[in-house]
Amino acid sequence: MTSAGVGQTGGMATSPADLLAAAYADADRTIDMRRRLHRRPEIGLHLPETQKRVLEAFADLPVDVTAGSSTSSVVAVLRGARPGPTYLLRGDMDALPVQEASGLPFASEIDGAMHACGHDTHVAMLLGAARLLAGRREELAGQVVFMVQPGEEGFHGARYMLEEGLLEAVPEAPVSGAFALHISSSFASGTINVRPGPMMAAADQWMVTVRGRGGHASMPHTANDPVPVAAEIILALQTMVTRRVDLFDPAVVTVAHLEAGTTDNVIPDTALLHGTIRTLSAERRAAVLAAVERVATNVAAAHEMTADFTRIEGYPVTVNDPGVAAQVLETTAALLGQKASCLMTAPLMGAEDFSYVLERVPGAMAFLGACPPGLEPGEAPANHSNLVVFDEEPLPAGVALYAWMALQALAG
Ligand SMILES: [Zn+2]
Repeated sequence: MTSAGVGQTGGMATSPADLLAAAYADADRTIDMRRRLHRRPEIGLHLPETQKRVLEAFADLPVDVTAGSSTSSVVAVLRGARPGPTYLLRGDMDALPVQEASGLPFASEIDGAMHACGHDTHVAMLLGAARLLAGRREELAGQVVFMVQPGEEGFHGARYMLEEGLLEAVPEAPVSGAFALHISSSFASGTINVRPGPMMAAADQWMVTVRGRGGHASMPHTANDPVPVAAEIILALQTMVTRRVDLFDPAVVTVAHLEAGTTDNVIPDTALLHGTIRTLSAERRAAVLAAVERVATNVAAAHEMTADFTRIEGYPVTVNDPGVAAQVLETTAALLGQKASCLMTAPLMGAEDFSYVLERVPGAMAFLGACPPGLEPGEAPANHSNLVVFDEEPLPAGVALYAWMALQALAG
């Protein structure tokens, strides 16, 4: 990798080694911020205490800060010494409704809330990157937008920020590239894991209510029993997936919630099926949603019943720009060594709302491995577990990667 451009006024451009050293020199602040956030997790779109800490941290830096109007989001803009494009770095800051059982000395002090997906580390790393970049404004031709978002865990926080003009935070230079890191205890500590194209799935919820007619369990012919029809729909959906979906543009359909009846000798009026669809392309997503509705309504119709289909829209597919994904791999190799730079062979079927940003601008999301010492990735409690522990050692590496992605994008 080349370092920042020539002919600038700020002396020698930062090298990857300088940046990594600077991030490690600042590690105490990063880890301290992470632990403070970890103790005080907040859930959803309104995170007043977390937002206050973020605003306090940005107050020490030469950035223009805007707090969200519809949520607790924070947008900070760092202007470089010269004009140029605008690059976005994201950190999400919400926690999960989980009772922490990690045993960490800085475990959650709030009952029923835990930073079980490591978003506390994301905020801490983003603030660390802001400090590094604020000290290198002379090297920046353009602006860095720090997107600190609430409500990643199912609340569409990124969408609210986009609606409030996130990408136009610098009116003369709309955001033209974006990068996000996500920590994971399921990858080897200190590795960066990324792939071109689909990185994470779209996840939509759906519900089907099969409407039959209730009656006495001894005389089913006088009723119209929705229970066997619900069972038939479940099996027909799995047949639909295996027979109608291309293996190389896959879908996962799961019925996870099934409800009918109240006792053993009464045929109920209705049966409820509730599940998710996960897909890796917009086309497959639309086709499978339509197919679930078609199968459910037509199986029901075959038995003289109706089926009401409801879709609860989730996040779109998270698609990495191939060029940016390649750049992440190269950058990681330059910054952390070749062994840290890992090409993922397959996407993850979880979902992520950075997808909304990546629908609008080319960019990438990558996983920072943080499997705790003494455990193998795969045996460590995973993200979202109430036992999950993230290794803090690679946090400065994440800080440096965030900063280096922006430095390269704005090297002028
Ligand atoms: Zn997460």
